[in-house]
Amino acid sequence: MFHDAADVPFMILPQANRLTPEQLAEVTAIVTEFGCNIQPIVGTVRTIYAILGDERDELMINRLEGLDYIDRIDRIQSPFKLMDRRSDLASHRIKVGGVTLGQELFVIAGQCTIDPKQPNYFYETAAAVKEAGAHALRGGVWKPRSNPYSFQGDAKSLDILMEASRRTGLPVDAEVMDEEQLKLALDAGVAVLQVGARNALNYSLLRAIGRAVAERKVAVLLKRSLHMGPISEFISAAEYIVSFGNPNVILCPRGTAPALDGYRNQPDESITPLLKEKTWAPVVVDPSHSVGKASYVPACALAAVAYGADGLCIEAHVSPSHGIGDDPKQAVTPDVLAGIIAQTKRLWAMRGSVKGK
Ligand code: PEP
Ligand code: MN
Repeated sequence: MFHDAADVPFMILPQANRLTPEQLAEVTAIVTEFGCNIQPIVGTVRTIYAILGDERDELMINRLEGLDYIDRIDRIQSPFKLMDRRSDLASHRIKVGGVTLGQELFVIAGQCTIDPKQPNYFYETAAAVKEAGAHALRGGVWKPRSNPYSFQGDAKSLDILMEASRRTGLPVDAEVMDEEQLKLALDAGVAVLQVGARNALNYSLLRAIGRAVAERKVAVLLKRSLHMGPISEFISAAEYIVSFGNPNVILCPRGTAPALDGYRNQPDESITPLLKEKTWAPVVVDPSHSVGKASYVPACALAAVAYGADGLCIEAHVSPSHGIGDDPKQAVTPDVLAGIIAQTKRLWAMRGSVKGK
C-alpha cells in the first residue's frame, strides 16, 4: 500500500502473466530487505507489481532484474505510472454486469435520488431504464447536497436499490461518502461505487475505498472534482485508488465550476480524448450534472460519445416532477433516454471511421 501515488516509482513486469506464489515470496523478501513494499495490481490479462521504493535503491533493482522470471523493471516517468497508457495495465478491461467497457457503449441510468417514501417510483424507473437499454442502474442512497439542510439520503434506500437490482437483474451504482456507507454498500452488493465530485479529492475516502475494493471485483466511478483543476489531478486521484490493488476505476467528467452561465457547470466532455490519450482507463461522461437541465442532456450525451466516451451516466426518472434531489430539473424520461441510447449507439458505430492524424 502506498501513501501517495507519487511514491510508486517501480513496476515489476514478470515474464509470465503473473508471479507464482514462490516467486512472489522471493521478490517480497528482496524488497522488504530494502524497506520497501510490494503491491500486486491484478489486471484481466496480466498482474503487475508496484514497488514503493526510492530511486537510490539501485542494488535492489539490480537484484530484481537478475531474477530469470522477471521480464523488466519499469520506471515510467509519469506522475501516474499505473494509469499511464504505457503501463502494462493498459490491457486491462473493466467489466460491469454483462458489458466489457470499450467494447460497446456502456450506459448507467436511473434516479439522482431514491425517495424512501416512494419506492415504487424507483422500481418503475429501474424497469423503464432497463427497457430503454441501460446496462446498469444508478440510484442515490446517500446524497451530498449544496445545502446541508437539504435531504441527505436514507440508508433504507439501499434496500430499495438492491430490490430494484434483483427485479431487473441490473448491476447498481451508488455514491458513498464515508466508511460506514462504503461498508453497507459493499455488503449489499453494489457493483459500482461512485465517488462524487465533492469528494473526488478526499484522499482519505479514496484510500478507504481503495483498501476496501482491493480484493473485490467492484468498480469505482470517480467523478471529476467540481473545481477546475489540472487533468493530472483527476488522473492521480484515480491512480491512488488503483494503487491499492483494484484497477477497475472509471473516469467520469461531470462538469466543473465555475459554471457556464445558464448551465449547472462548465461542461467538460471535451476532455475525453485527452484522458484517453494519457490513460488506459475508460471514460464514462455524466451529462446530467454537467448541463443540469433535462432538455440539454441529449445534446451533451451525444457530444460526449462523439468525443470518444466509453459510456454515459444519465439521471432518468419515470416522473421527474415527482422526484427529489436533482430529478425534477435534470432527469430525462425513459423515452428520451431510449432516444439518447439509440442515437449514441449509431454515433459509436460511426466513430471508428473518422480518425485524426
Ligand atoms: C449525483 O450523481 O447525483 C451527484 C451528486 O453527482 P456529482 O457528485 O457529480 O455532483
Ligand atoms: Mn444528482
